[in-house]
Amino acid sequence: MKPKVYVTRKIPEVGIELLKKFCDVDYRDEVPPPSREELLDAVEDVDAIYCTLNEKIDEEVMDKAGKLKVIGTMSVGVDHIDVDHATSKGIYVVHTPGVLTETVADHAWALLLATARRIVEADRSIRNGEWKIPWAPTMLLGYDVYGKTLGVIGIGRIGSAVARRAKGFNMKVLYYDIVRREDLEKELGIKYAELDELLRESDFVTLHVPLTPETKGLIKERELKLMKRTAILVNTSRGAVVDQKALTRALQEGWIAGAGLDVFEKEPISVDDPLLKLDNVVLTPHIGSASHDTRNKMAEYVAEGIIKVLKGEKPDNLFNPDVIKVRSLDEVKMI
Ligand code: NAD
Repeated sequence: MKPKVYVTRKIPEVGIELLKKFCDVDYRDEVPPPSREELLDAVEDVDAIYCTLNEKIDEEVMDKAGKLKVIGTMSVGVDHIDVDHATSKGIYVVHTPGVLTETVADHAWALLLATARRIVEADRSIRNGEWKIPWAPTMLLGYDVYGKTLGVIGIGRIGSAVARRAKGFNMKVLYYDIVRREDLEKELGIKYAELDELLRESDFVTLHVPLTPETKGLIKERELKLMKRTAILVNTSRGAVVDQKALTRALQEGWIAGAGLDVFEKEPISVDDPLLKLDNVVLTPHIGSASHDTRNKMAEYVAEGIIKVLKGEKPDNLFNPDVIKVRSLDEVKMI
């Protein structure tokens, strides 16, 4: 019998085509994520769940899915999955490291530049008929990027890709991470700094840590007050890494100059949220990895990971390798 995979929502077709070659696919071909009840109902007799970051895959879901062997998520972040519980139950977790790195790094830079040079505000002013004087020495002044200091928090795959791009802007790059990366210091000429020092010295601070209990609220009032009044914060990691109330006050009261945000504490952000009233913030709706090529690659990579596990092979996108000690690849092999 073929393994059964539940796909929680609409994904690029390449992922579905690949899954169908080896599995019975219960494909919920809809854009919004399933309700909690729908999810719990659907997983009862599945061997694999193919999900996105919007579905909370916790103890309750895994305990309901008695036959579950593998969870594949179309994201690199796994903060929506109780990975410790999965590992303890011998459930393999696969994700999408690497394939989205350059696309998210591009997006972080798009937000950085758009915020520094007030691109969205300028576009809005033209559309609103506010461009009355052809050129004015003091109109829509922003901040220089070239030659400034960039602070990267989390120098993993995406953080280092962002740092690499800074070379073209002749920037000094500081980084903070729990892991000292002397290889990258040599390769990219970047310098390690403690978090407070990085915040004090950087003109642009960009966040690339995963959301974990340690990084939740990493940037709050104290940290925002350490930043330069002319500094810009970019967040393409996870909303909860920043205390959004404190950030809103920082932007309203001028503790920092601006922010470029792709992620929020609650997504979608409410249309009444005070952040939406501010001109010094550029907002995008969690589209860091949203290019045609990358979303196709992500969809395929998750399917490949799920299939490999069900073939009894170790996929290179396995997030919890310790799971093998709990339940061997031979024990999950079905194909
Ligand atoms: P990665 O694992 O390669 O890098 C994460 C880095 O953060 C590592 O160097 C790690 O040592 C560091 N880190 C972990 N905990 C830390 C802590 N407490 N303090 C300081 N540093 C810490 O991950 P990646 O592929 O670069 O992705 C980073 C994150 O970006 C993901 O976890 C995800 O949440 C987010 N992301 C967002 C989008 C988007 O659409 N906006 C897309 C992809 C990834």
